[in-house]
This record gives sequence, structure tokens and C-alpha cells, in this order.
Amino acid sequence: MSDELDRLWALKDLDERANVLKAELKRFPEQRATLERAVAEQSAKLERHRSQAGANQLKRRELEREIESLTIQERKFQSQTFAVKKNEEYRALLDEIEGVKKKRSDLETDVLMTFEAEERLSGERAAAERALQSAQREAAERTRQIDAEERAARERLDVVEAERAQHVGKLPPATRARYERIVQSRDGRAVMAIAKGACGGCFRNQPPQLLQDARRRDRLLVCEGCGRLLIWPPNAA
Ligand SMILES: [Zn+2]
Repeated sequence: MSDELDRLWALKDLDERANVLKAELKRFPEQRATLERAVAEQSAKLERHRSQAGANQLKRRELEREIESLTIQERKFQSQTFAVKKNEEYRALLDEIEGVKKKRSDLETDVLMTFEAEERLSGERAAAERALQSAQREAAERTRQIDAEERAARERLDVVEAERAQHVGKLPPATRARYERIVQSRDGRAVMAIAKGACGGCFRNQPPQLLQDARRRDRLLVCEGCGRLLIWPPNAA
């Protein structure tokens, strides 16, 4: 019996280590996703700058076309001034010409503003490009670290699982089945130490008789609170 309890005690420690490693392994996908989100965010920002720059250029081309058509219109009015006979018709034409010139001048101002915007946008785009590159570099570097940490944790877990399997394999079949069932149903912790007269898993106080039996280490004891196997710590008095 003492050998069986020793194995269970060893399993308690191995289970705890396996649980810690499994929790560690679960964090890696989230860490990777965070890095991917940071890169995607910078990439979306750069895309917005590109489309703003594109829209600005389109706007300028449109303004330039409008200016050109106003220039043609003005020439047409100018040529008509030679043909009109009446004074009021002539004045009306001059007004038209004046109106066209004013409109064109406004549009030319707008064109200048698109050049200013282009300069500003290209500065912002360059900054966004640098931010994206640095996010990508950081993601690549961190991903390499995460991959290495993950590999190391997986290897440690493999070692723990192998050691665990060895102990489990040497348990009497009934105890093994019991242990496996409790490990499954009690978040990977089937064996608990008795501490201060209570179960280390659910903290239920144990009856005096059970504590005495536990000290003698001659039979398998079960906590009535959580159903886990109870062991008096080998190094405790
Ligand atoms: Zn318990």
C-alpha cells in the first residue's frame, strides 16, 4: 500500500506540473493573435492613407478638367465679343467672362489645396509604412520567441506526461481507474495532501478517524467533499 501511496503522491506533483504547463500552452495562441491584430491594425491604417491619397488625386484631376472646360468657355465668350452689336449684349458677355474667371480662380485655389493635402498625406503615409514595418518586425521576432517557448513547454509537458504514464501504469488497476476518473472530472487534480486536518482541494475538514488512517498510510482514502484521493504528506509529522 505504501508503494501505491508513494506513486499517487508522485502523481499529485506531476499532475500539478502538467496543469501549469497546459495553462502556459493555452496562452500562446492568444499571444500570437495579439501580434497579428497589431499588424492588421497598422496595415488597415496604411490602406486608409493610400485610399485618401488616391481620392485626393482623383479630386485634383476632376478640378483640372473643370478648369479646362472653363477655359474653353471663356475663349468662346471672348470670341463672341467680336460678333455682338448691342452694348448690353456686350456687357452681359463681359459679366459671363468675369464669372467664368472667378470660378476658375476658385478652382485653382482648390487645386493648390490638393497639392498641400498630398504633401501632408504622403508624410502620414510614410509614417504609417514605417509603423507597419516595425509592427511586422516586432511580430516576427516575438513569434519566434513564442514558438521557442511553446516548443520548450511542450517538451517539458511530454517529459511530465511520460513520467506520469509510468507511475499510472504501475498502479493497481482499480486505483488506476479511480485515479483516471477523478483526474478527468476534477480539473486534472486527483490527489490532494491533507493539510491542517482538511482536504487540500476543497478544504473540507476530515474526521479524526480518517486522519489517523491517513497517518498510518495503509489504505486509500477519499475526501467526501470533492471525491479526490487524500494522502498524508510523507514528510509531515
Ligand atoms: Zn476534498
